[in-house]
Amino acid sequence: MPGTVVGSLNEDVLVAVGRLPGGGETVIGRSATLAPGGKGANQAAAAGLLGPGVHMVGRVGEDPAGDRQLAALASSRVDVSGVHRTPGVPTGSATIPVEEGTGENLIVVVPGANAELTPDDVDVDPVHRADVLLLQLEVPMDTVYAAAAAAGGRVVLTPAPPQPLPEELLALVDVLVPNEHELVQLTGATAGARTPVELVALARSIFGPVVVVTLGARGALVVRRDGSPALLQPPPPVTAVDTTGAGDCFCGALAQALATDRDLPAAVRFAVTAAALSTTGPGARGALPDAEAVEALLP
Ligand code: ATP
Repeated sequence: MPGTVVGSLNEDVLVAVGRLPGGGETVIGRSATLAPGGKGANQAAAAGLLGPGVHMVGRVGEDPAGDRQLAALASSRVDVSGVHRTPGVPTGSATIPVEEGTGENLIVVVPGANAELTPDDVDVDPVHRADVLLLQLEVPMDTVYAAAAAAGGRVVLTPAPPQPLPEELLALVDVLVPNEHELVQLTGATAGARTPVELVALARSIFGPVVVVTLGARGALVVRRDGSPALLQPPPPVTAVDTTGAGDCFCGALAQALATDRDLPAAVRFAVTAAALSTTGPGARGALPDAEAVEALLP
């Protein structure tokens, strides 16, 4: 079984506004669009389009939004038999006003059914038998820990939204994939631009796993624990139009590549290329590539 994602499924409500509202202010939106989302489901969709055998474990409500999330994942070739329906609780949602012109946004997340995912829910075959298990932090921490502890294969964790990570969890993680901002928060460093050398030092200060830091248009930085030098993998040239969800595509692609026995540098090359392609279309899932498209552009 190549890859399993344990994590969130959300319905994103994207509201186009001329100007973001201030506190206590009402503004009139120009349009509202529904889109499938949630870090977990976005990672699963990316992995599913890149190869067969991807499973999702999570929770949605017994509502139309839940139906839409399941249908969207199934259309990305993800097995959703591990996604349970929770009665009386809505499917998770993220309401996102986006300012036209600047692309600036605000995000209000209601976890809904994601908050009901229990350690028992993740003590299942797709977690025990996955070659690679993908985790993020949009479901309860004790469930994330239980999934990592139950994993039979390698564990890849995206520490988002950022929060303190217990050492017992880090000890179970093989690859940690923060973006630059998450790395800074995790290490308690002060915010601000950093050189690759400074980022490597921050990554090395984290207890435990290999750290792969995603750096937007600069690609990704691989920091291992075996004394080998850090590696900066730039992306291939693309025309980025929307980078929403690029980090999730990176993780889904990394898991697929590791599950198909690529070594870490080759897997990161694959993930950087897939994520770069994902920025060439709108939204988190609007331009997710298939494996052929990634292979054709590999640096
Ligand atoms: P998001 O929160 O939007 O999902 P992120 O902040 O978690 O993204 P980033 O570091 O911005 O993650 O991007 C993840 C990966 O996507 C990068 O490592 C890179 O491979 C690719 N990427 C992002 N932005 C660009 C870009 N402008 N051009 C090419 N590749 C990009």
